[in-house]
Amino acid sequence: MLQGKKAFIFGVLNDRSLGWHIADQLHKHGCEMGFSCLPGERFERRVARATESFRPRFLTPCDVTRDEDIAAAFQVAAEQFGTFDILVHSIAFAPRETFEKPFLETTREAWRTALDVSAYSLVALSRAALPLMNPGGSILTLTYHAAEKYVPDYNMMAVAKAALECSVRYLATELGRKEKRIRVNALSAGAVKTVAATGTGEIDRMIEHYRARAPLAWGDDASSEHVGKAGLYLLSDLASGVTGEVHYVDGGYNVMGW
Ligand code: NAP
Repeated sequence: MLQGKKAFIFGVLNDRSLGWHIADQLHKHGCEMGFSCLPGERFERRVARATESFRPRFLTPCDVTRDEDIAAAFQVAAEQFGTFDILVHSIAFAPRETFEKPFLETTREAWRTALDVSAYSLVALSRAALPLMNPGGSILTLTYHAAEKYVPDYNMMAVAKAALECSVRYLATELGRKEKRIRVNALSAGAVKTVAATGTGEIDRMIEHYRARAPLAWGDDASSEHVGKAGLYLLSDLASGVTGEVHYVDGGYNVMGW
């Protein structure tokens, strides 16, 4: 389905990462890939190990809070790929204290950091990607239900996800109207135990909640694969008429009223 296509993927840390499961599906369908990781030997080693089986064209360091890192990463993509078709943004961070203290205690600095890493980075990466993307290309980000509803302790990350989802609508409109007709969508994933999710402090309790309430089974190993497959759909031509959407893949959890 993706023979001849190329993807640049941000946000794989290990083989539990949702970005890894999206990459796995892209790889199974013939897509060539390049990855980014946080700068530092330790991160590079870990991500290189996790992505080895995909035989990536490149792995390049990039802290998305630094414009010079973003410019350098896309320079590598230009050299290795020429042009590409798919951008995956699977990145989020908020300082630990924002999950531990009441929302009312959020500092200006913590607000800024969470919004910068988790939401602004989508705008910055999309802008850098656009000149290199082929017509009809697709951009995908990862979001969570807390953008819409109160979720205990999610606090700043919920605000960042709301900004991210709104950014998807604006980017989708602007990029869809340009000549290249790039699509931009978000996948709203149900709770899955990853490093980032463990940082929120409540992941086991959240998964129990999903197990009890979602119409389809959620919280087992297959959940990440479900996320990967939904990512494949949105990034492939199967979703050629879909843009600006927040698409849930959570076993139906979000439709439950009580
Ligand atoms: P993950 O494996 O920990 O991935 C998070 C990624 O973000 C890591 O690769 C991390 O790199 C990267 N990152 C953080 N700060 C960065 C920065 N300044 N520059 C570049 N990269 C940075 O966790 P995940 O759960 O798969 O998270 C991926 C996305 O899915 C996030 O947007 C998350 O909010 C979303 N999501 C997750 C769930 C869930 O339940 N797991 C549910 C819905 C949505 P380092 O680890 O090297 O810092």
